[in-house]
Amino acid sequence: MDTKAKRTRRDLLATELKQLQEEISREETRCQHEWGEEVYDPESFREPYGVKLLKQGSDCWPEPEGYRDASRARWSRTCVHCGKKEYTYAQKPAAFVPDFDNHSPPSRHVY
Ligand SMILES: [Zn+2]
Repeated sequence: MDTKAKRTRRDLLATELKQLQEEISREETRCQHEWGEEVYDPESFREPYGVKLLKQGSDCWPEPEGYRDASRARWSRTCVHCGKKEYTYAQKPAAFVPDFDNHSPPSRHVY
């Protein structure tokens, strides 16, 4: 297979992919989303650490010594109909829920 034919096949697939993504987008827009369970779904990323100074001629600039794996808190939910997945990093304060691990009565009762 020559380079030109490969590129053409690739272009064809890229066009098809774009059309399919647009189709998914239309489905998601039409859907009356019904969200499934919210799950803790931390995001992985590469985090820079340390500082080293690089020098070239009279230029000097800081760069990280390296990168390490890190993650940040994130939650996701998926629509049970169209499969759209949404992410959020934000949390709302939760309502109070009964705490069965703590049996002691409050220190002062007000009746
Ligand atoms: Zn949906």
